[in-house]
Amino acid sequence: MDTANRPARELHTAALLAIGSELTTGETRDTNSNELARSLAEAGVDVAWISALPDRLATVTAALSGALAAADVVITTGGLGPTPDDLTREAIAAVCGEEPTVDPKLADWLRHLFERRGISFPETNLKQAWLIASSTAIPNDNGTAPGWWVDRPDGRLIVALPGPPSEMRPMWQAWVLPRLRERGLGRERVTRTYRLTGIGESAVAAQLGEALLRAQNPIVATYARSDAVDIRVSAIADSGRSATAIVDEAEAAVLAVVGGYVWGHNDDTWPAVIGREMAARGWNAALVEVGTGGSAAALLGGASWLKGTRAIASGDAAARLPLAGLAREAGKSAGAWIGLAVRAVEVGDDTSVEVAAVGPWGVSESRLTAFLGGNEGRRRAGIAAVAFLHGLLRTGNGAQAPNAPAATGGQ
Ligand code: ATP
Ligand code: MG
Repeated sequence: MDTANRPARELHTAALLAIGSELTTGETRDTNSNELARSLAEAGVDVAWISALPDRLATVTAALSGALAAADVVITTGGLGPTPDDLTREAIAAVCGEEPTVDPKLADWLRHLFERRGISFPETNLKQAWLIASSTAIPNDNGTAPGWWVDRPDGRLIVALPGPPSEMRPMWQAWVLPRLRERGLGRERVTRTYRLTGIGESAVAAQLGEALLRAQNPIVATYARSDAVDIRVSAIADSGRSATAIVDEAEAAVLAVVGGYVWGHNDDTWPAVIGREMAARGWNAALVEVGTGGSAAALLGGASWLKGTRAIASGDAAARLPLAGLAREAGKSAGAWIGLAVRAVEVGDDTSVEVAAVGPWGVSESRLTAFLGGNEGRRRAGIAAVAFLHGLLRTGNGAQAPNAPAATGGQ
């Protein structure tokens, strides 16, 4: 790793090669690449591709050349063992046009390892002491296979790590990653998530439009989660514009079309966003559900502002009482500021949902149709109830909140 005369190259892209016939026969799952990809993505590196390859020299050599042409960093795992079918070193040497030789220091270290265990040193293991002129050994504290760090003349890198995750992982974390960082690994990436309710994922996608959803930078993507439809916007700096500026611009475009459905950001959850409103007023609430399978309570988890929850079976006489009365009773019996009640009834293929909230401002009620019946309908009814409460609090309290999401449609 001679630092003189090395061309500066920013390390923005990576390709991962998992080597071993146990992977291509399906005996072992390639978890190494998955771990490396996560770590690289976190560091702002674009992983161009991931391949699993058999122990075949021609295949590995071809894949290495292809990867080197496409990425700034190529990382291999596996094939560093002592047996003839472990041929990652041979493939790297071939791609670099260099001859492997036994490194005396590595050979001493290896022999010493075997001596310590009282095993005679098998000469075939000398392969694990090989280096080529442009490689540096990556120490392996948990096995007999040192890795290789290979500097290419154009500033690209090949990093070869052993296959066993217990060896690969510490070498990556403690040795490779810090050195890659020193070389300028990755680009700053800014990511923001908008959490929506009252609109389905396909409707969100239609509103955002193809141009936004197909863009490479920023990347705008939608995800249907159990508690929200999420829009995730992420960008890296490009052509003199900061990542933040690019995300800001995308955010404006996103909010212009679906801003009215946004109830939270990033890691927000329903109990957290409602909790903030409650805390600002020193309020708390109690909940009663009919026909929802307890889905609203499940969504709110163990929120500290939730003083009580109750589920009434649909067949119970109380299930047919006026909802505002049930809400008032729930609040009163729990000694809470707010009583929230929700009732879901399957009507045809959909679910009819009624919500009532009784609080210091008075009584607020809403009715809507949730898309689909059954568990899906019940889940959506729970979201509708929670979203209704949030809408009431967010708009200050009072009567029907003007932009409380009409929780029709689905998510
Ligand atoms: P060693 O000499 O320590 O065995 P090696 O580099 O030769 O290192 P391999 O022989 O290719 O490693 O793999 C050894 C074991 O590591 C495999 O049997 C498998 O259990 C595990 N392994 C290999 N590759 C992967 C991978 N991509 N993901 C998860 N586990 C893997
Ligand atoms: Mg092997």
